[in-house]
Amino acid sequence: MSLENKIALITGASRGIGRAIALVMARQGADIAVIYSGNQQAAEETVQEIRALGRRAEHFRCNVADFSETAATVKEVTKQFGTIDILVNNAGITRDGLILMMKEQDFDDVIATNLKGAFNMTRHVSGVMLRKKAGRIINISSVSGMMGNGGQANYAAAKAGLIGLTKTTAKELASRNITCNAIAPGFVETDMAKKLGEETLASAAKAIPLGRLGKPEDIANTAVFLASDSAAYITGEVIKVDGGLYI
Ligand code: NDP
Repeated sequence: MSLENKIALITGASRGIGRAIALVMARQGADIAVIYSGNQQAAEETVQEIRALGRRAEHFRCNVADFSETAATVKEVTKQFGTIDILVNNAGITRDGLILMMKEQDFDDVIATNLKGAFNMTRHVSGVMLRKKAGRIINISSVSGMMGNGGQANYAAAKAGLIGLTKTTAKELASRNITCNAIAPGFVETDMAKKLGEETLASAAKAIPLGRLGKPEDIANTAVFLASDSAAYITGEVIKVDGGLYI
């Protein structure tokens, strides 16, 4: 599944799933704009790993929740790389808590990063893709957004909203040969999942038909497929990558 000479902008590529997507796409021949929010050292490590694979990589600090910062970042990436062929809206945060106790700020922050962040990037990158009449947009949602999850009202709402955004983007941009799809992971071994604690993760693994948590590469392989020519006729789809958690 070649991505030879494609340019991919990946948000939240400093760590976890985003980093795995960046590395697997680079292995398939893509150059990568690594977007991160604060962890410059991790972003630098991702960049060095991509360069070691012989591909171009640069990192860009950008809070995806900020409309004008995303506009400036997309402009800068386009200036440095020439274009953007693939957008992966992966950046995300959790601020878990039961509805009764949830702080307003925790609700707003999760919606701003996980949902509005994807809108912001799509809004600015779609202009680049419309001009070239080609593009792939991949949104990282979650099975929480499909099945709901106690303690995650903010997160599940954002991830469900992302599915609506995916389907609408797919309909609006299809005539210009731009596809937009979502991936809905289950539990994936990253810093985000670690916050849940070992006990919760161990019981989660038992509830997963395939008997294990996901690896970041499980999600990355699906993202590469959706970005490749093999997925040219798929748009507006949500692909669960969850080991059967939500069957
Ligand atoms: P991590 O916490 O490991 O990494 C989060 C990434 O997002 C980091 O690169 C971080 O940058 C970046 N980020 C956070 N906030 C912002 C922001 N405001 N602007 C720009 N970048 C930001 O998370 P995961 O890898 O686990 O998650 C990646 C995606 O997958 C998320 O959307 C998450 O909701 C989703 N997902 C994860 C699951 C899991 O079990 N892990 C399950 C289902 C979905 P920095 O390093 O600078 O902080």
